[in-house]
Amino acid sequence: MVFTILILKRRERGRISVRGVRLVEPAILHGEGGDTAAPDGYPFQVGYCESDGIYPGTTLPQYILYLVADSEKERTDWIISIRRICEEYSPKSFRYHPSLWQGRKWTCCKSLTRRALGCQVATLWPEYNNNPN
Ligand SMILES: [Zn+2]
Repeated sequence: MVFTILILKRRERGRISVRGVRLVEPAILHGEGGDTAAPDGYPFQVGYCESDGIYPGTTLPQYILYLVADSEKERTDWIISIRRICEEYSPKSFRYHPSLWQGRKWTCCKSLTRRALGCQVATLWPEYNNNPN
């Protein structure tokens, strides 16, 4: 199963396999080190790997897609819905970065490594997603 991201005049811009999703969490796009081009609203992030085959077993996302909802409720609804359809696939990330990677460091924790373990604890996934990493 895939879900389709529709932006810019409803043209399909890409697909993410639900099997590859590692994390679904709120995000911070504005403020110091943020993206001035980011639209106002309620951002959240979907961290994913392109397929299970590239980094089998890794809990770290290969890519992060940032999305912006129109309201707090809509953001919560999106996060819950996406997590629900992805949760049966393992592994999942148990930590994440709320802010953006700035090319040299994470804005949130100033970590200098792109693949540094997240500085925030992720929302709990079901027990079967449990993974020591
Ligand atoms: Zn961080």
